[in-house]
Amino acid sequence: MPKRIIIALGGNALGNNLPEQMAAVKETVKAIADLIEEGHQLVVAHGNGPQVGMINVAMTTLSREDPSQPIAPMSVCAAMSQGYIGYDLQNALREELLNRGIRKPVATILTQTIVDPNDPAFRNPTKPIGAFMTAAEAEEMRCRGNAVMEDAGRGWRRCVASPKPQEIVEIETIRTLMEAGQIVIACGGGGIPVYRTEGNHLKGAGAVIDKDLASELMAEQLDADTLIILTAVEKVAVNFGKPNQEWLSELTPAQAKKYIDEGHFAPGSMLPKVQAAVKFAESKPGRTALITLLEKAKDGIAGRTGTAIHQ
Ligand code: ADP
Ligand code: MG
Repeated sequence: MPKRIIIALGGNALGNNLPEQMAAVKETVKAIADLIEEGHQLVVAHGNGPQVGMINVAMTTLSREDPSQPIAPMSVCAAMSQGYIGYDLQNALREELLNRGIRKPVATILTQTIVDPNDPAFRNPTKPIGAFMTAAEAEEMRCRGNAVMEDAGRGWRRCVASPKPQEIVEIETIRTLMEAGQIVIACGGGGIPVYRTEGNHLKGAGAVIDKDLASELMAEQLDADTLIILTAVEKVAVNFGKPNQEWLSELTPAQAKKYIDEGHFAPGSMLPKVQAAVKFAESKPGRTALITLLEKAKDGIAGRTGTAIHQ
């Protein structure tokens, strides 16, 4: 039966630099096109951790070399990352669909996500961005006034505030295009973080919103049946990386919450995915959240693999 699916693409769907991204999206769009070919209605969201970090470094370097150029705020870096990623994705997906004889317009919507300026996250940065560093490089970064963290045993990264997504400004545009049968890429990098100020103004916030939580909000607001979080592992595990590691196939929100409380999921990587999955599964009976590998999306939807969370 055709479903309404929101796909959240993780880091491995996009690569870490320009040539890697060009190559990665070619594979990524095959997995997306497979689902479109099966008749599902899709909206695609994606992360931007490495890209927003790269753009931020580039813009900071520019301003160091040319003091007349102020440092670009994180919100502007997020907007740039949506453009750069969306361009590659929409181009590759358009081509893949046409090669399969599917004539569906594909477009990227520059998406803003409203956050609360009083969100406690602004005082406690937790979202890893940019390239991995050694402990020594991280120490140097810390001395320059940046927050850094160890990312799930894989090395050190810079980290920024990650406030909760509250509202997606362009949701009606996304809905209209989706209902018209078009393929939309939206909420890239969790959306450009903005908050309300006086009048009707939206001001950019110095943060990076978690793309899994923003995708979850979008999935609820679009009344999706399924939220698929595509990442670098086929399933979620308890005791991850330990000798007694156990892969999980199916979970109720209550079971998942118990594992969250027991600390099985690393903050900044698997934890926000499981939190987003639980929130979506709890939002309405019949809704399923699936966490799996990009190339397993089709099998996951058919119930053959991945970790599914539902009531
Ligand atoms: P993405 O870039 O796809 O959004 P991350 O790379 O941040 O996601 O997070 C996925 C990673 O989380 C996995 O590759 C794995 O190394 C790590 N991870 C941490 N805890 C777990 C767990 N309990 N089960 C599975 N993977 C986990
Ligand atoms: Mg990643």
